[in-house]
Amino acid sequence: MGTWIKETDQAIYLMQGGYYLEKIEKRPRSNGEKTLSIVDMHQWFARSDAPGGMIVALGSQASEPLPKPIPENGVEITKAPKSVEVKEVFVIEGITSKHRAGQSVHLQVDNQLATSAPKVNEEGKWRINFRFFSQGTRNLKITIDRESVDLVIQVSLLTPQPKSLSLQGSVGWRGVNRAEDVLIVKERLAELGFDFFKPGPFVDTGMLQAIKLFQSIITGKTKLGGDGRVDVGGRTHKFLQAANAPRWMLMPIKGEGFINFEREDLSDHHDYGASWLADTIIAAGKLYETQYRKNRKDISLIPINDVSYPQGGDTPDHAGHEAGNACDVSIPRKGGDFGIHWRSNQYDRDSTRILLKALRAQPLVTRIFFNDPQLIREGLCKSAAGHDNHIHFEIGIPNPV
Ligand SMILES: [Zn+2]
Repeated sequence: MGTWIKETDQAIYLMQGGYYLEKIEKRPRSNGEKTLSIVDMHQWFARSDAPGGMIVALGSQASEPLPKPIPENGVEITKAPKSVEVKEVFVIEGITSKHRAGQSVHLQVDNQLATSAPKVNEEGKWRINFRFFSQGTRNLKITIDRESVDLVIQVSLLTPQPKSLSLQGSVGWRGVNRAEDVLIVKERLAELGFDFFKPGPFVDTGMLQAIKLFQSIITGKTKLGGDGRVDVGGRTHKFLQAANAPRWMLMPIKGEGFINFEREDLSDHHDYGASWLADTIIAAGKLYETQYRKNRKDISLIPINDVSYPQGGDTPDHAGHEAGNACDVSIPRKGGDFGIHWRSNQYDRDSTRILLKALRAQPLVTRIFFNDPQLIREGLCKSAAGHDNHIHFEIGIPNPV
C-alpha cells in the first residue's frame, strides 16, 4: 500500500490508507512561526513505499488524522527499507494485535530462521534490528503466532565510509548540548545501532546509555563505563566519525563454522553485541571450518553463547559482558555436539584446541579464559573461576580509520 504526506496545523504525517503511520509534531516558536525536527523524515523516503505526494491541510479546520489501527489478527509491517548495504544495521517495524504482547517475532531469511529474539510490546508494536553479511536479493518472512508477512530487501556491497560530524560543542553528560550538535550525534548513534533514545534535540538517559556503551567498546572495557560525553576532537568524537566505528547489533545466528545456539532460547536476552565482536566470530568460524572442521558432522561447530543485553549494561548472569565485547563459547563434545565440562571423557580437546587457536588468530581478541590445564600449558588460555564448562573471550580495539 502506498504512502503520502499530510501537513496540518499541528503536525506532518506519514499517511497510509487514511491513517497515519508516523507523526512529527510542530512546536511553536516565540515569533509565531513553528518548527519541527525532520531527522525522522529521512527514513520516510528510504522506505520501499516512499511517499510520492503531499496534502497540505493548513487552516482547513479538518480534524487531525488518526493512527493506523492495530490489526485484529494479522501482522503488518509499518517500516522497512527496500535496500540496505552489507553490514548496515537496519530496522523493520510493525504492528499486530495487542493480545500478542510478549510473543516472539520470528524472522526468516530465505527460509532460514534468522532471529526470534524481539518481542511484541504492550501496544502490539514490534521492531527488529538486523543486518546482512553478504549481498543479494533476500526474501524475508516475519511470523508472530502463526500469522506472517513477507517482504524483499536488496542487499548491496558498499564499504563503510568515514563520516564527518562537525560539532560546535560537547554533547552528553554536562556537555554544552547545542540542539544541532545533539541531533548530529543522535543521528550518527542511531545509524550505528545505538538508538536507545527518544527523538528530539535534547539529551535523555537513553542517549547517555548509548554514549557510555559506545565509549566502553572503544576503550575495550567489558563493564559499562565512560563519562557519557562526546568532546569535540576527543576519542569518542574520533571513533564516531570512523569508517570502522563499532555498530551495535544482534549477533549473527549462524555462519561458516559457528552456531549461536542461544539465539533461539526465548528466556535469554544476551544476544546483542558490537560489530567488532560479530566480525571476530565470523572470521574465527571461517578459519575453524576451512582449516579443520571441513563440514564434518562429527565435529562440533563453534557454539557461541551469551554476549550482552539489548542495550548493554549490567547483567545478573555474568561479571562483565556489559558492552558487547565479551563472549561465552560452549565446549565441543566428541561426536559433534557441544556443552560439556573439560573433565568429562566426552570432552573433545582436539576441537577445543583448534577453536582456541582460531580465536587467537583474530587481531582483536585480547584474553581467553578456560580451565583445561592441558590447553593452559599450551598457552592457549588462562584459568579463571567458573570456566570449567565454557570459554570466555574478549576483544580489544582497532585503530579508527
Ligand atoms: Zn563470560
